Amino acid sequence: MTKLRSQTNTIREIPENAAGGVLHIDLDALASNWRILRGNAGGVDTAAVVKANAYGIGIEQAVPALAHAGCRTFFVAHLSEAIRARAVASDAAIYVLNGLLPGTGPTYAEFDLRPVLGSLEEIGEWAAFSRAQDQKLKAAIHVDTGMNRLGLTVPQGLTLKDSSELKDFETALLMSHFVSAEESDNPLNIQQIEAFQAVKASLPGITASLANSSGIFLKEKPHFDLARPGYALYGGNPTPDRDNPMRAVVGLEGRIAQLRWVEADHTVGYNGRWLALTRRRIATLSVGYADGYPRSSSARGKSGDELLAGMALVAGQPCPFAGNVSMDLITVDVTDVPETQVKRGDTVTLIGGDLTVDEVGRRAGTIGYEILTNLGSRYARAYRGGEG
Ligand SMILES: *Cc1c(COP(=O)(O)O)cnc(C)c1O
Repeated sequence: MTKLRSQTNTIREIPENAAGGVLHIDLDALASNWRILRGNAGGVDTAAVVKANAYGIGIEQAVPALAHAGCRTFFVAHLSEAIRARAVASDAAIYVLNGLLPGTGPTYAEFDLRPVLGSLEEIGEWAAFSRAQDQKLKAAIHVDTGMNRLGLTVPQGLTLKDSSELKDFETALLMSHFVSAEESDNPLNIQQIEAFQAVKASLPGITASLANSSGIFLKEKPHFDLARPGYALYGGNPTPDRDNPMRAVVGLEGRIAQLRWVEADHTVGYNGRWLALTRRRIATLSVGYADGYPRSSSARGKSGDELLAGMALVAGQPCPFAGNVSMDLITVDVTDVPETQVKRGDTVTLIGGDLTVDEVGRRAGTIGYEILTNLGSRYARAYRGGEG
């Protein structure tokens, strides 16, 4: 038996047999993925991006497991997430990607957090705050090399060397972010690397970071001083045109609430969007879009159609969804599974085996990132490993 541990922090404990779904989270696989990524980054310092509740798996569980594996630097999106990370990683460097919001300096200082400064205005505010504190507070500076979202422009980045404000705080990191690193042949990758190099070269001795998960695997090896993976840590494939080098971290099982036969020419679910052409056996799972399982996985058509829609593994056999995903329920066509092999109360696999997070995302017309970060709060969460 594997050791199971229930989450205690942000989500109340839910007994497995009382939950509509059970989320299995393998913290050993998470730690192992971090080591794999560090190896692929040529051994440079490797951080972990743990924004959005560590891509849905739980920041209070993920951060200690990664710190135990040797990770010393974490990135989150929000200041509130950084405070949660700090509570479980007292010594780590913690960066807030979304930058400095006006007036939040004292909170950064109180919890020893580092903003990722994304504009000259933010740099000015951090410099002023550092002067007022009479301390060289640490921060990162983000240079935008193509995303047009956050960060200084490259020309602004090239003038930083002449800025007096840079003397008022410690620039612990210079960073930028790839637009399409998962497309290994996209010419934008090289353009971004070159623009980033130019800014880095103008600031001698600066510590630099560019690569997200997919960036680590680019043939140009843009590893610089620090790699910054997120998705791949959680088992997502950073190399979509090749086999996934990562271990699966997340598994999801949904519970069968009922089994029934649906006669030919009857429909299943809201709005009657799926028609049984022959008599079909339907399993109704106690999981729905209120659990973050995307409604865009709905199967609208007829029994036997090849639809791009959700699937479940029932007694190990792939079974297609039937009809619309509803708030609390998903209906699955299990006609092809021998009747004796499936019964009320059984669990079926919604994420696991060939139903990887990437595949579940594809079947929902989205990306695995969205599947992970929407993982719901009604599931029982069973954590494995992570204690060293
Ligand atoms: C989310 C994020 C990452 C991690 O990206 P993945 O594709 O999940 O590895 C790295 N850097 C920045 C700036 C991010 O916003």
